[in-house]
Amino acid sequence: MQVKKSPQHIPVRYIKGVGPKKSESFRKLGVETVLDLFYYLPRRYEDRSRVVPVKDAVIGESMAVAGRVLKTNFFRARTGTSIFEVVLGDDKNRLFAVWYNLPFMNKVFKKGQTVVFYGKVDMQKRLQMNHPAYEVVEQGKIKGALDVGRIVPIYPLTASISQRYMRKVVHNAIKAHIAHIDDPLPTSLRARRKLVDFKFAVENIHFPYSFENLERAYHRLVFEEFFILQVVMALRRLKNRKKGIKYDLMEGLREKFEELFDFELTSEQKKCIKDIERDMASDKPMNRLLQGDVGSGKTAVAMYALLLAVNNGYQAAMMAPTEILARQHYVTVSKTLMPLGINVRLLVSGIEAEASGRIRKEVSSGEADIVIGTHSLIQEGMDFDSLGLAVIDEQHKFGVAQRKSLIGKGPNPPDTLVMTATPIPRSLALTVYGDMDISLLKQKPGGRQPVTTYWVGEEKRRAIYDFIRSEIDAGHQAFIVYPRVKRSGSSQMLSAEEMWEHFKEEVFPDLEVGMVHGRMKADEKKRAMERFRKGEQDILVATTVIEVGVDVPNVTVMLVEHAERYGLAQLHQLRGRIGRGEHQSYCILLGDPKTDSSRERLAMMSETDDGFKIAEKDLDIRGPGEFLGKRQSGLPELRFGNIVRDFDIMEEARTEAFDLVEQDPALSDPHNRRIREDIAERFGGKTVK
Ligand code: ADP
Ligand code: MG
Repeated sequence: MQVKKSPQHIPVRYIKGVGPKKSESFRKLGVETVLDLFYYLPRRYEDRSRVVPVKDAVIGESMAVAGRVLKTNFFRARTGTSIFEVVLGDDKNRLFAVWYNLPFMNKVFKKGQTVVFYGKVDMQKRLQMNHPAYEVVEQGKIKGALDVGRIVPIYPLTASISQRYMRKVVHNAIKAHIAHIDDPLPTSLRARRKLVDFKFAVENIHFPYSFENLERAYHRLVFEEFFILQVVMALRRLKNRKKGIKYDLMEGLREKFEELFDFELTSEQKKCIKDIERDMASDKPMNRLLQGDVGSGKTAVAMYALLLAVNNGYQAAMMAPTEILARQHYVTVSKTLMPLGINVRLLVSGIEAEASGRIRKEVSSGEADIVIGTHSLIQEGMDFDSLGLAVIDEQHKFGVAQRKSLIGKGPNPPDTLVMTATPIPRSLALTVYGDMDISLLKQKPGGRQPVTTYWVGEEKRRAIYDFIRSEIDAGHQAFIVYPRVKRSGSSQMLSAEEMWEHFKEEVFPDLEVGMVHGRMKADEKKRAMERFRKGEQDILVATTVIEVGVDVPNVTVMLVEHAERYGLAQLHQLRGRIGRGEHQSYCILLGDPKTDSSRERLAMMSETDDGFKIAEKDLDIRGPGEFLGKRQSGLPELRFGNIVRDFDIMEEARTEAFDLVEQDPALSDPHNRRIREDIAERFGGKTVK
């Protein structure tokens, strides 16, 4: 059955003045429908609203000048250039508009017409404008003109579509179609949020009557864009809400859990645990993001979820992106939960085939309660007896498909807890993880002090070495980080291997200096880390492999060489490796930044230790796409809104969107028809059942 296109989805070729051939040029701009055209945002605007008579033209200024066509001249210069001029004037004053090599202009003007020219007024023995924008107007009536006499939109265009033509087409489209298109935003919502209607917004984003109107139009379109996005989020969340496992919270279990630690959980940790309890006790699957800086105590929180799942007779899986991290989780979790009689298993690729086969069996038979591992958890042949909870660490290192693949291993949709140590500013979290619930850990537990960070130059090198030595004399350890393992070619960049030699032989010959880097084999790496962790070495020279997963509380200094080469997020991750004990720790960024942005990064790092502040700055500097990285993206394309700048609007739109979906989950109310259509059009109907 042929479905009749809604008026907003009529192809552009049916707009007056377009046709099949031109519609191809529009398609290249991403404009296929009337609505695409309406949402095609001008790059900027030119205020051509004040129109003056020729006598008031000011030399050197860009302005709109009106007058009568007294005469036109068309001739060829000796060089071959064709020249067309219009003599515009009133009683005494004359202005010459000149076009070179555009012979067709000869047909545009007729003697006696009133026209308006917009351009820069030059004085070349006479008043002149070269290639001005123009509009022929009816006697004395500039109103209704598109190119002059108003605030004029300037579009981002390609050669095959001129500004003038674009304006004409947009204008025609508005005239013919806008009246037939419903406002996607329900009237009551618009009233509540004081938003202008669709027609006003579209008219004024293209042909604003004033800059205030433009502002209101823009605001409304930003709101609308976020609103639709958040409706999609709300619908996704609804879809996730299939029936899941309803866990029994069990009298006294939480108290028992809290007693497992030799420290008191922070109030934030307790709050996150309550969030998790609420989710797991409901019959809908948990879909929660636990955000907290490195060392903020996420693992402790996650362990409660593990315990709750296991005590309810289900299995739990914990997936980490690297083997080091998986092993570390394994150590922590097994140490904490094994005394309760819980079977914890580790499954990573470094394990021998035989052992790995045995562990798989234990998982599929249900003998193993908790299995911790890397990607190996989602491989073929990995079956669970009764997976009830999936904890995914460092979520951004996994693709959506990998996440789904783990979740798919349960009979019911398992509850999911996703942990990330990359602080994601709320604005971004609502955009990308808008369908998840979010818990935050902002403080550092255990009365730990923030790391003191210095940014220094090469001249401090000796002093830094002395400082490292004094910390080691006080019984602590140090990390020294390099961007590369080996020096490449004639590069000036110091490398881990050569500096390791240098430290060992020349600077700290009396100390134990170890090394770890990404080119080592997994078990070599593990042994190197282990030795350092046990305190057999004082200094560990490393590449950024120590970025994730290393927990050595006795380290109080980290020297990062060539610090200007790292992004904010990476520096912050690196720094998170220290300050994990009760002693004051120091991060020394040795670097010679050559650009403003690298200077800004180092300055920011030395100013604050707050991951969320740093993340916001980082988002600011790099923009959302770069910030998230290609890997996970999931970032929607936005035409109008900017998630950083327009965050307040996003929050309002989100509230409205979630309320609306709550009330009308199928979007079947006639008032919500436009929303349903737009989502179906943009998301291929995948989100709406
Ligand atoms: P994350 O997983 O967020 O990086 P962890 O859970 O690994 O953080 O915690 C980092 C360190 O802090 C661990 O050594 C852990 O034992 C300790 N820790 C966690 N919670 C507390 C707390 N409430 N008080 C003191 N130390 C804590
Ligand atoms: Mg952790």
